[in-house]
Amino acid sequence: MSKRIDITGKIFSDIYVLEFIRSENTHAKYKCLCMSCNTVTHTTRANLVSGNTKSCQKCGNKKINYIQEHEIFTRLKNGDNKSQIAREMNLSRKAIYRVAREWADQ
Ligand SMILES: [Zn+2]
Repeated sequence: MSKRIDITGKIFSDIYVLEFIRSENTHAKYKCLCMSCNTVTHTTRANLVSGNTKSCQKCGNKKINYIQEHEIFTRLKNGDNKSQIAREMNLSRKAIYRVAREWADQ
């Protein structure tokens, strides 16, 4: 049996951990606050500790950098599936669609 490591009160980039919710399978779920936009969001400890989750999804969509955009665009041009790109780059599908739209005219 593994001991639960409590991360309540810790800060991961823009995320402030408010409270432990429950364990889902082996994943500890936490209620968090995105300090950029004051949105309450739920995420797992694994995502926070590994750096996968640095903000809420809403802010995450805004924070795609140029290198990521370029990678998305290159992959779209190569005919990669949008859902697959989103999954592999750990981004929302909405973000991929936005990049696709913005880069379409260039
Ligand atoms: Zn946010």
